[in-house]
Amino acid sequence: MIDVSAYAANSAGGPLEKTTIERRAVGPHDVLIEIKYAGICHSDIHTARNEWGHTVYPVVPGHEITGVVAEIGSEVTGHAVGDRVGVGCFVDSCRKCASCEAGEEQYCPNGYVGTYNNVGRDGKRTAGGYSTHIVVDEYFVLSIPDGLELDAAAPLLCAGITLYSPLAHWGAGPGQKIAIAGMGGLGHIGVKIAHAMGAEVTVLSQTLSKKDDGLRFGADQYYATSDKETFRALRGRFDLILNTVSAPIDMDRYLSMLAMNGTLVELGLPENPITVSGFSLIRNRRSLAGSFVGGIPQTQEMLNFCARHGIGAEIELIPADKINEAYERVIGSDVRYRFVIDAATF
Ligand SMILES: [Zn+2]
Ligand SMILES: [Zn+2]
Repeated sequence: MIDVSAYAANSAGGPLEKTTIERRAVGPHDVLIEIKYAGICHSDIHTARNEWGHTVYPVVPGHEITGVVAEIGSEVTGHAVGDRVGVGCFVDSCRKCASCEAGEEQYCPNGYVGTYNNVGRDGKRTAGGYSTHIVVDEYFVLSIPDGLELDAAAPLLCAGITLYSPLAHWGAGPGQKIAIAGMGGLGHIGVKIAHAMGAEVTVLSQTLSKKDDGLRFGADQYYATSDKETFRALRGRFDLILNTVSAPIDMDRYLSMLAMNGTLVELGLPENPITVSGFSLIRNRRSLAGSFVGGIPQTQEMLNFCARHGIGAEIELIPADKINEAYERVIGSDVRYRFVIDAATF
């Protein structure tokens, strides 16, 4: 066992506070990572505040982790001490089912092991990246290519793969018209990745306040969804719409912007069920789909892609004692575009 410092939420209503947690001893297939940076994902806030109803306290959030390998187990072959590495949303899965064998561990029907607020295969509760160190099986540890800075790379481990996976799955590329709904932590990375894939990219944001940023990140067009004219102007336009907005949207109006055979992919988790008129789907043979992060092989592919294209998240680096303030700012959409915590301050 290794005692390490961390930040944990101890109750739904309380702040995150400094604490000490135990990490397991490094097993034969394990990697001990000295964490350098941890991104703040909206899921961290939902979990810390028990907004999804399944939080077990105390909980140490954080699943956008980058760092350096400090120690490896005797059987580890894929990583060496000193390597730059990352950990995303899950740290284990059954590894036997069809999903796991296909490298789509996030869809493991036997249950993947979440990086935090979950129970590992050793029966112990998992604790995330708001911490100085973490021990993870080598298969679930990603390599961070040299071209990526560790701080700007951290959000790629959740936000980046959440956007890359559907773009790759639905074949984003030259000739495709893609809309990214929402210009936040997820959306801004989606704009960069979709543009680098060669697609024509349109941002659908509530207002035009981030338009300059959107165009700088690679968007070809930028529309305000608060303007009703937007939906008329864009009727039947897109092959793919990626919805990163977790607040309720008028799904029928968004579907109306899909071209023939177009697909709208849900990436956020709205609190309420989605309602859709059948007319919106049968016209233009439209599809409504969902997508959840990405498997380990595709996450590595995404990191390599981002390194080749010079893509990192736009971040605001903060010390650990600003986490609670940062949570409030995330809820108020007052961040451009992702908070990343300096792990030296845990
Ligand atoms: Zn996340
Ligand atoms: Zn499985």
